[in-house]
Amino acid sequence: MGLRVQEGGLSGSAARLVFRGDAGVIRVRTGDLDTPRGRFSIAHEIGHFILHQGRMRTCSDLDMADLHSDAQQEAQANVFASELLLPAALCRPVIEGAEPSIDLAKFVANQFNVGLIASALRVLELSAEGCALLFVEPKGVRWFRRNEHFRGWLNVLGPPHRSSLAARLLRGSTSADADVADVGCWLDDARKLPEDSELTEYAVPMPNLGGALVLLHLSGCEPED
Ligand SMILES: [Zn+2]
Repeated sequence: MGLRVQEGGLSGSAARLVFRGDAGVIRVRTGDLDTPRGRFSIAHEIGHFILHQGRMRTCSDLDMADLHSDAQQEAQANVFASELLLPAALCRPVIEGAEPSIDLAKFVANQFNVGLIASALRVLELSAEGCALLFVEPKGVRWFRRNEHFRGWLNVLGPPHRSSLAARLLRGSTSADADVADVGCWLDDARKLPEDSELTEYAVPMPNLGGALVLLHLSGCEPED
């Protein structure tokens, strides 16, 4: 492919891609090379190399966690990296029959040597149950994804509801990583859900990104016909 990988020589950013004609050089932050984060950075830059032309591209930790919009180049490079490091054919048997949870995402992250955001996204995509994944900051939701089994309208405007696990975690009043949530914390019109549906909220603080990763599992909803 004509790509070389080098380490170091970056100030503050996670990775850089320099185009050299048909070839290119990827740099990752010192110390990252053989880590899950470094593997994701390299896969992300390969995504830019294949999908996006240019002279040079420098990507931050926030870029690596950006799933904001499919049309945006950082999000495209992240989807590419996820496909490369977490092939659906290998992940599906692990995820499909299991209950979606942050523990499952951590297990997948370990098995495939990737970071938690990438593995949680795969859990969302391949789970047979209703899931949503959000990156939540104190001032609001940076991005969110939901799978086709997730019923109900996610409320993603404004700061997270005070009693949500994410809000409690961000203000330091809990260190739990899972809780049964009041559906009203995250859903706009909870009345439309079946009575026995239950919303479980998982949240993991990510201080280096300034927020928390939230996985919502909505159970008890039959798939729509
Ligand atoms: Zn990038």
